[in-house]
Parts: sequence; structure tokens; C-alpha cells
Amino acid sequence: MKHTLPPLPYPYDALEPHLDEQTVRLHHDAHHQAYVNGLNNAEAKLAEARTQGDYALVKHWERELAFHGAGHQLHTLFWENMRPAGGGPPTGPVAAQIEKDFGSFELFKAHFSAAAVAVEGSGWALLCWNRDFNRLDVLTVEKHQDLALWNTVPLLACDVWEHAYYLKYQNRRAAWVEAWWNLVNWDSVNARLQAAQR
Ligand code: MN
Repeated sequence: MKHTLPPLPYPYDALEPHLDEQTVRLHHDAHHQAYVNGLNNAEAKLAEARTQGDYALVKHWERELAFHGAGHQLHTLFWENMRPAGGGPPTGPVAAQIEKDFGSFELFKAHFSAAAVAVEGSGWALLCWNRDFNRLDVLTVEKHQDLALWNTVPLLACDVWEHAYYLKYQNRRAAWVEAWWNLVNWDSVNARLQAAQR
């Protein structure tokens, strides 16, 4: 079963002025598509290795599986996590959980933003539900797959690869992260949290 690029849940220009149309177009149609292709390719190569009993390149294809698979997962979440006229304080069950685990939305937001800005090189900031510890965690990710904590479910993802913001914000990653808060779709975060807690 091949993976496919999920359609963008809004028009390309719907997130203006915080996220420009050209960036969305390139990011979704070119970058996200490349991770979908890379995931399909890695799975095909691993299936071929099993069929042929030839595992000479297994280390390489397992790395490709983790990189492209995580890239596809996080981008799918990233698009879903945004909407036109989003942002503001959280609503629903995640609002109460954020207060419980971080003290307040303002404290969580400051922590998450600082973590996103501090990611070394290309990566992500994530709000995750930790199934083992029954709490929310802020995690940073290098590339798409490094620095994960096991059995955590990503709920909210901010992409801080340069391809996510460079056309509009150039080297000002902090300005991108601040603008991104205006796009957050809290309904999507609540839906993910409820699914993760089931
Ligand atoms: Mn990206």
C-alpha cells in the first residue's frame, strides 16, 4: 500500500499574511511530496531485500525509512495544525491539560517558542502526549526523527526547517515562530489528544 500526499486542507494562500502562498506551495507540493516518495521507496527497497535475502544495504534503508516516514508524519500533522484565522488561547481538553502540565498557556508558549528557536539546524518543536507518563511534553526534533521520546504522540508541530520560513522571514526564525502562533488550529490538537488518550 503506497503512501500518498494528503491534500492541503485549505487553499495555498489561506494562511497569508503569516505564511505566504509561495512557501506553502513549495513546502506542500515539493518538500512534503519528496518525503512521501522517499518513504515509499524505502519500504519498497526493504521488501526487495527480504525477497532477495540481501541485507547489504539494510542500515541505509532503515535510516531512510525513519527520515522520510517521520517527515511524512510530521508534515501531515503540521498542515492539519494550522488554519486561517487560527491562534489565540487553547480551547477544549488541551487547555486544561496545558495548565496542569505547564502552569499556564503563557508559560507553555514561552517554553515551546524558545525550544523551537533553539533547534540546532533543521527540525521541529512538538507538543506531545506522553502515554507512559500521562502528561504533555514539549520535545525538539533534529531533522524529522532525532531526539524523540518513545511512546509519545505528537499533537502540535512547528516546522523550523529553513524551507518552512526562509522566503518570507529569511534568517529570522523567531519571527516565523511568533507568526505561526496566529495559525494554530486548536480543534486539531484536541482531536489528536483525545485519540491519543483513548
Ligand atoms: Mn518542512
